[in-house]
Amino acid sequence: MKKKRIVIGNWKMNPSNLADAKKIFSRIKQLSSDVTGQLVICPPAPYLYALVSSYKGKKIAFGAQDAYWQNSGSLTGYLSPTMMESSGAKYLIVGHSERREIAGEAPDVIAKKVLAGVEAGLTIVLCTGEKVRDRNADYLISIKEDLRECLKKIDKRMMAHVMIAYEPVWTIGGREAMSPQDIHGMTIYIRKVLTEIYDKQISDATQILYGGAVNVENVTDIVKDGEIDGLLVGRDSLVPENIIQIVTVANGK
Ligand code: PEP
Repeated sequence: MKKKRIVIGNWKMNPSNLADAKKIFSRIKQLSSDVTGQLVICPPAPYLYALVSSYKGKKIAFGAQDAYWQNSGSLTGYLSPTMMESSGAKYLIVGHSERREIAGEAPDVIAKKVLAGVEAGLTIVLCTGEKVRDRNADYLISIKEDLRECLKKIDKRMMAHVMIAYEPVWTIGGREAMSPQDIHGMTIYIRKVLTEIYDKQISDATQILYGGAVNVENVTDIVKDGEIDGLLVGRDSLVPENIIQIVTVANGK
């Protein structure tokens, strides 16, 4: 049986208005009719409900790009996981490198967000990845520490609602993805870390995704040799033909 892989499209702060978001989504919808495999679109929060309401199918699900770890309060400008869930999100990206960099999000805050998201009924896409690859491979230790810290509030039962997106930061927004062989090495390493934190059963059951410069040219090799359960895609998720082709290739066609 062919392996089903999930593809998550992170639109980030794009496009700049709702009309364009509807246009892009409408084309994705059209092209998705004969695609197998799960596609998740994570639009900017103000577009979420409008896109969710315009879709009655099952092939596309929706996610949010971030949420705070409290569900209400005097928190001007913040958005909660329950708001995202009640607007139609099923997934929540947490700990993306851009939030760590721009909003200064630390693992301690990420851990609270992971828990709040799970409690709100969302599936968490927890991002982790090194900024640079040093020769001594210290980045392996930082990834282990990051996962330990970000998952510290999540018990074995809750892990059914968490997937890990390995995203080497140096590839995000760049021209080249990591080599499929190196991606494979990192999935093995992340499973080892999950076995240490939880156990082998949890480690085997957790979906591990790759993200960072995935495009229509490199996706075939990444899914062939990368040993991944899915992909997190930035730029190409805004190009309907490309994201649909990525989902198609990821699911063995
Ligand atoms: C990302 O930001 O998570 C990402 C993978 O971006 P891109 O695909 O554009 O490199």
